Amino acid sequence: MKQYLVKPGSKINLSKIDPNDTGDFKGGKEKGLLEVEKLNAKLEELQELLFAEGKHKILIVLQAMDTGGKDGVIRRVFDGVNPQGVRVAAFKVPTEEELAHDYLWRVHKVVPGKGEIVIFNRSHYEDVLVVRVHNIVPRATWKQRYEQINAFERHLAETGTTILKFYLHIDRDEQKERLQARLDDPAKHWKFRLGDLEERKLWPDYMKAYEDALSKTSTEHAPWYIVPANRKWYRDLVISTVLVDTLKKLDMKYPAPEDDLTNVVIE
Ligand code: AMP
Ligand code: MG
Repeated sequence: MKQYLVKPGSKINLSKIDPNDTGDFKGGKEKGLLEVEKLNAKLEELQELLFAEGKHKILIVLQAMDTGGKDGVIRRVFDGVNPQGVRVAAFKVPTEEELAHDYLWRVHKVVPGKGEIVIFNRSHYEDVLVVRVHNIVPRATWKQRYEQINAFERHLAETGTTILKFYLHIDRDEQKERLQARLDDPAKHWKFRLGDLEERKLWPDYMKAYEDALSKTSTEHAPWYIVPANRKWYRDLVISTVLVDTLKKLDMKYPAPEDDLTNVVIE
């Protein structure tokens, strides 16, 4: 999955990255789904261990254009993991109270504690994406934020947080299909806002903002992965694989019992 990792400082051109890519994976959707299931079982075990050990903190950042699949990843990749120890934090348009503070205030409050996995559905990156595209703050202000974000994430990493960031890469045609599917399904209307169509018109601006963010904020301590996401099964496969590999590398152990249990007999 190294191929999807953004090398720190490298220039990104998203139009050159194929959202339909399925890498070296042979076998297509059917085999892919089976693989995701297997990884999901591994993830359940590793999360149990993470929670029991109570040492590491895991932060997963999900960013994507509308319909990019953030909700789908949360549903499928984390299917069945013990909700005790896994939390989703979704970032919407900031409230008045949030706007009265610096933009990282609402983020820092919800980062993972020891033994916890926290998934960010959108994140502080909105503050260099939607905020930049819509000129919500002056250019000079958002320009400073890449460095501020890197410093913030370095701080989290140095204090024991493992950070993984995924940009779910779909193309504009795929978004059209997915928006149409939402429109055709009354059960999905709640997700559809007319404003989403206005955002869609700004696609090129968003791509530029994403390219900059990915290039400027992929670091050793908080890497970005650009995940080909037109095919949902492959998107889930990439994220599950990175996650399982990362958790395995933490070399976690169940804590020793507080008491010597060797001669215990239960009557
Ligand atoms: P959704 O994730 O579809 O529920 O939409 C949440 C909306 O909140 C999106 O349109 C985001 O762009 C927007 N949003 C999230 N964070 C910010 C922010 N810091 N400033 C402005 N809009 C934001
Ligand atoms: Mg939405």
